[in-house]
Amino acid sequence: MPLLQTTIAGSLPKPSWLAPPNQLWAPWLLEGERLTEGKRDAVRLAVADQEAAGIDIVSDGEQTRRHFVTTFIENLDGVDFQHRKTVRIRNRYDADVPMVVDSVARRHPVYVEDAKFLRSVTQRKAKYTLPGPMTMVDTLYDVHYRSRQKLAWVFAEILNEEALAIEAAGIDVIQFDEPAFNVYFEEVRDWGVATLERAVQGLRCKTAVHICYGYGIKANIDWKKTLGQEWRQYEQTFPLLARSAIGQISLECANSHVPIELIALLDGKDVLVGAVDVATDRVESPEEVAATICAALQYVPAECLYPCTNCGMVPLSRSVARAKLHALGAGVALARADLRK
Ligand SMILES: [Zn+2]
Repeated sequence: MPLLQTTIAGSLPKPSWLAPPNQLWAPWLLEGERLTEGKRDAVRLAVADQEAAGIDIVSDGEQTRRHFVTTFIENLDGVDFQHRKTVRIRNRYDADVPMVVDSVARRHPVYVEDAKFLRSVTQRKAKYTLPGPMTMVDTLYDVHYRSRQKLAWVFAEILNEEALAIEAAGIDVIQFDEPAFNVYFEEVRDWGVATLERAVQGLRCKTAVHICYGYGIKANIDWKKTLGQEWRQYEQTFPLLARSAIGQISLECANSHVPIELIALLDGKDVLVGAVDVATDRVESPEEVAATICAALQYVPAECLYPCTNCGMVPLSRSVARAKLHALGAGVALARADLRK
C-alpha cells in the first residue's frame, strides 16, 4: 500500500435529481422506493467519483442523509421535531431546533443498511461518518435531561451501538464529526473526550474524530473573521486527543489560519490533514495540495499522514467538488513522487 493514504472528510454534493444543489438540509426530490433507489445510485456515483480521483479510503458521500446531525437524531426516540425552540448553534447562529422531551433511544439501526451497501460497491477501504455526541447535543433544546453532559453520554452509548453494527458491516474507519470541539473547550476537557471514548468503546476498526471550522456558509465565514490572524483552537484539544483512545484526527489546514506546527501535538496519532479548502469554489492546483502535505510532513511521519479535505463538500457544486477530489488525488501523487526522491 502506498504511503499517504487519501480520504475525504465525509460529504459530497448530491445529484440534482435527488436533492436541490448548493444548500444544507435540502429536501429529497424523490419519494418511497424511488428515493431508496435514488440514494443508492447517488452512493454509486459518489464512490465512482472518489475512485476515479484516486481516493484510497472512500465514503458514501453522505448521500443517504439530509444533514450530518439531524438525520441521525430523526431516527431516535425521545426527540420532538414538531415543537421547535430557537437556540444558538456553536455560539454562532440561531436555529429552530427539535426538543428532547423524553429518554432518547435507538430502537432500530440508522445507517447500517447504508453501510452494508457502501461495502458492497467498492473494493477499497471504506469510511463511515457519524455525528459526535457533543455536536448532537448542541443542535437540540433539552427539557428532559437538562444537562449537556448527561444527554451527550446517552448519545455516546447510542452511537456506540450503531458504530459496532457499522463495523460488523465491514467498514474500515468510523469517524465522529465534532465541530463543537472547536468551540466549547472546557466541556471538551471536562467530559467531551471521555464521552467520545465511550462512543468508540469496543471498536476494533480505525476510529477518527473530525474537528473543523465548518462549511463555507456565511455564519461560519463571519465567525472565522473574528478569530484573528492565528487560529489556535486546536492547541487546546489536540493534547487531550493525543492521550485518548481515538486513533485518527481529521483537521482543517488548507487555506486556513491554523499554524501547521499544532499538528505536532497529535504525536502518535494518525493525522488527516485538510489539503483542500471547502469554503471556496476556487480549485486548488495539485502543487498547492502537495505543498500542504509537504508542510504537514515536517511534523507527522508519512505513515501517519492521510491527505483529506478540510470538511464536507455538500454545499459545493458537483463539478467543483469533483475537481477538488481530482486536485487532492493529483497532489498526493506529486507528494508521493517527492517522498521517493
Ligand atoms: Zn467539518
